[in-house]
Parts: sequence; C-alpha cells; structure tokens
Amino acid sequence: MHEEIKNFDIAVLGGGPAGYTAAERAASGGMSVVLFEKNALGGVCLNEGCIPTKTLLYSAKLYKQFQNGAKYGISGENIAFDYSKIAARKTKIVRKLVAGIKSRMNEHDVTVINKEAKLENVNASFFTLSDETETYRARNMIICTGSETVVPPIPGIENHEYWTSREALASKEIPSSILIIGGGVIGMEFAALYNSFGCDVTVIEALPEILGNADAETAAFLREEYAKRGVKFYLNSFVTAFTEQGVEIKNNDGIQTLTSEKILLSVGRRPRWNGIGLEQLHLETSGKGIRVNENMQTSYPHVYACGDVTGFSLLAHTAAREAEVAVNHLLGKNDTMSYNAIPSVVYTQPEIASIGRTEKELSEKGIEYKTLKLSMNYSGRFVAENEGGNGFCKLLVDADGLLLGVHIIGTPASEFIVAAGMAIDRKIPINEWKKTIFPHPTVAEILKECMFA
Ligand SMILES: Cc1cc2nc3c(=O)[nH]c(=O)nc-3n(C[C@H](O)[C@H](O)[C@H](O)COP(=O)(O)OP(=O)(O)OC[C@H]3O[C@@H](n4cnc5c(N)ncnc54)[C@H](O)[C@@H]3O)c2cc1C
Repeated sequence: MHEEIKNFDIAVLGGGPAGYTAAERAASGGMSVVLFEKNALGGVCLNEGCIPTKTLLYSAKLYKQFQNGAKYGISGENIAFDYSKIAARKTKIVRKLVAGIKSRMNEHDVTVINKEAKLENVNASFFTLSDETETYRARNMIICTGSETVVPPIPGIENHEYWTSREALASKEIPSSILIIGGGVIGMEFAALYNSFGCDVTVIEALPEILGNADAETAAFLREEYAKRGVKFYLNSFVTAFTEQGVEIKNNDGIQTLTSEKILLSVGRRPRWNGIGLEQLHLETSGKGIRVNENMQTSYPHVYACGDVTGFSLLAHTAAREAEVAVNHLLGKNDTMSYNAIPSVVYTQPEIASIGRTEKELSEKGIEYKTLKLSMNYSGRFVAENEGGNGFCKLLVDADGLLLGVHIIGTPASEFIVAAGMAIDRKIPINEWKKTIFPHPTVAEILKECMFA
C-alpha cells in the first residue's frame, strides 16, 4: 500500500510571527496551507520573547508605581511582590495567546503539524517535506524558522553556568545579583526588570554605548537613568574569560573579575535554518541570513523567507510584515517590502521608541537634516502621569520638510511611534502632518509640539 501524500499550495516552516501570519494570510487568500511548528505556535515572540518579557515588565512597572505612590498622593504599606506569582501569570498569558493563534489557524483551515519539518527532495513542480511519519508536498515554501541566541566562544564558557533569555524567562525567582553580558535591547529590558525587583544588576557592553545602533542621545539618557537607580555599567569592556572566580573583563582600566549569582548572556541572535534539508537548495545568503528580494523571494524559485531567518531586523513586527509581502506576491498582488520605517522599542521605564534614521546614519551618509527637539514635559498628559519624569522627543527633518527619523524617550512612546512611521513611510511633509488633529491630552501630542518647535 502506498503512503498517502498530502498536497498543499504552500508549506510554511515555523509557526512564529512570520509563519503564522503567512499561513493565515495565504489561507484567507484561498490557498491550502500546511504549517510546521516543532515547538509551540507563536514562536520565540509569544513563548520566550516579546510577550513574556512585556508581561514581566508590566508587573515590574506596577511594583515601582506602587512604591512611588506617595508622589501621587497615594500611600500604602508593605508593598511587596511575589515573583513566583508574577512568573505564573506570565505563563498564563503566554498559554492564552498561543491558544489564540491555534484557534486562528483552525478558523482558517491551516493544517498545523506539531513536528519538525524536513525537506526531503525537490522537483520541478513541488517540494516534498516530511515530519518523520508523514509526507507532504507543496508547490511553494515559506521559510520562517527564526533565530537562536548567539553563544560567543569565550574561553571557559563551556564549564560555566549561564542564562540566556530563555532560562531567565523560565526562572521563578529573582536572583540577588546578575551580570548581564550585552547591553542591547534584550539585555537592557532584563536589566530594567531585575533592577525594579531589587536585584543588583551589572551590564557589560563592548561598545562605547548601550543599545547598539540606537540614537546615541536616547541610549545615553536611558543608561544615566538606570545608573541613578543603581545599575552598574561597564562600557568599552570585553569579556575575556569565564573562570572559577567569575567573569573576567578587559577595558581601559585593565583586567578585572566580576562575580554575581547569575550571568545572563544577551549578545545577540542569529538566523537558523540548518539541518533540515534546505542545504540542497543552495540558497544565497546575505551575510546576515537568507538573502531575499523585495518580494521576500529567495534565490530558489517558489521559495520565500521571512522573519528573523533573513537576519534583517530581528523584530516580530518586521517578520509579520515580510510574511504579508511574501503571501501577496504569491497571490499575484502588488506589494513590496520596505525597511524605511520599522519601529524599534525598548520597553524599559522610560520607554524608548525610534523609527527611521539616526543622526549618526545621516551624518555618515552626508544627508543634511535639522533637529526639532523638545522635552517630554511639553506634553500635559506626560507631566500629569510622570511626576518628576523627564525625557525628550526628537524629529529629524530634511530640507524638503520630510521626516527622516524620530527618537523618543518617554512612556508610552511605543504606543504612538506608529504615527511617525506613517509620516516617514508615506512621505507626508511636516507642513501637512502638522494639520493632523491629535487628541488632547495625550502624550502623542509631543509629536505635534515638536513639529512647531
Ligand atoms: C527575550 C526576547 C524579547 C523580544 N522582544 C521583542 C519585542 O518586544 N518586540 C519585537 O518585535 N521583537 C522582540 N523579540 C524578537 C522576536 O521574538 C522575533 O523577532 C520574532 O519572534 C521573529 O519571528 P519569526 O517568525 O521570524 O521566528 P520565531 O519567532 O523564532 O519562530 C520560528 C519558529 O520556527 C520553528 N521552527 C524552526 N525550524 C523548524 C522546523 N524545521 N520545523 C518546524 N518548526 C521549526 C521554531 O520552533 C520557532 O517556533 C524578542 C526576542 C527575545 C529573545
């Protein structure tokens, strides 16, 4: 008897934001879709990334607000936290959202295979995939296999215990002290979390400033804010070894050994797609990940790649948009991917939200721009809700009045940065954009105030 082979229009490899978006959009467009997910639907984002971190950070924010209640005329005694309950709530939220993705896949008749997909072979008209027990054929394939934590080859690391973001998120306890290697977005969000709950936090960063390519002024502002709250920063500092005594770092002051209860490694993530038969496609790579064109097509016909696996932006919202572009191309709709206005948020307190170019990028490219910058205290709502708070909003504008970049430090910048994204992406000149009526009082009004600055 022949094994039954199931045929589909599209096979999606990976069920993270790229994969589940691609599957849902393709199925809505009338295509038959099989989606493979070897772990949990929702991928890194829902299970061990965006959602769990933001859930924990929300508890941290509430705890700090309760502690600072007196500033707002609210008093309370014995304000305390139970981290095991905070962690349990995080798990509950993750389960709820994963279940939501599952039911969305069901509603759209997406066939979800909860196993690892392997590409068995390819012929002119279809790709044959297997999950070890069954075989599937698809005319098109979308690779959405995501990324993994980079573990740098530091001498001695193999004999040392350390956390990555996965173990940190799985922990039901707050350590008494933590050494965070890497002061990028993920490192700083964990620094904010642990600092709020009273842990002794040290951040080691190889670059001269935290947050990598972020706007230097907002990054410095955030670092100074957390330094005031007790976080220790070692900039321009390289981890040279893990020894029995602790973590050895080298900087202009020489070599020293730092100790802590826990070590969190957060030096970056890299795309992953090896070991599942994709080698036979000889896909071109960009140096960062799988190379794609503006339609998200790879170098192999009928194969698309979206999300972290392209190594481009390593953000969930980019992944989802790339998936929409790939599916629209498959459906014959006119759509292309643009990376001009990808919002970037750091969910610390205060939040940072940025979009478009930084001053450094513009200067390096010799692009002339003017800066419109105001303190967040120009927003009445910000003042009302942030007793003693500060921050700023900065618009970078070209000679034609077009917005090139926006960088904000002040909560809740993440909620309105999209307005600036629309202005950048749709090329709306400042003189037109300023005619938009912003609701009053909102923190978003800072954008409008800046346009008149
Ligand atoms: C701690 C942390 C916090 C983050 N916070 C944010 C944030 O606030 N905002 C933001 O935008 N981004 C954030 N990110 C990044 C975000 O999680 C990723 O950009 C996003 O998940 C990428 O989506 P993706 O679909 O490309 O890949 P992933 O989410 O990695 O999903 C890929 C999926 O593919 C599956 N898979 C791989 N190979 C196979 C195979 N052969 N067969 C079957 N399944 C397979 C994996 O199990 C995985 O579930 C964070 C990341 C981390 C680690």
